[in-house]
Amino acid sequence: MSQFPQDQFDDILSANTQFADSFQHSELTGTARKGLAIITCMDSRISPLAVVGMQAGDAKILRNAGARVTDDVLRTLVLASYLLGVNRVLVMPHTDCRMAIADEASIHATIQDQFGVDTTSLEFRTVSNQREALTEDVARIRSYPLLQKGVSVAGAIYNVSTGKLEPVDC
Ligand SMILES: [Zn+2]
Repeated sequence: MSQFPQDQFDDILSANTQFADSFQHSELTGTARKGLAIITCMDSRISPLAVVGMQAGDAKILRNAGARVTDDVLRTLVLASYLLGVNRVLVMPHTDCRMAIADEASIHATIQDQFGVDTTSLEFRTVSNQREALTEDVARIRSYPLLQKGVSVAGAIYNVSTGKLEPVDC
């Protein structure tokens, strides 16, 4: 039996104790109150709800490296659009993204060089042209046949230096 790694997670548990002490979201359901789903990057500079002036209960947040529309993102959007109140989707990559700075081969090479691990069996889905990739990803959602009809899909790039969202014609 493996144990809970207390030492590494101590700060998290004690912060949660405080959070739970003043918890005020008991009445929320799993339906997105503002009908929004945001697909964004795992980048730690992005607080997706804060970026669009929302809070817990308002929106679905889907995150991965590079804010790419993968099969799993589409699967999740299908569920969210039929069952969880989502009727608009914002695909939100960001400036200074690691996935848009280096290409697939060089990221594999970096991990191989620094850690001696061959990751080439993974597709990281790096992007060489962020706007092109965003346009493709938005089109992929719009044309996905299983998504609820009438869902509105938009793309915008989040600027991590200014906090501004730049709408992109996709
Ligand atoms: Zn990123």
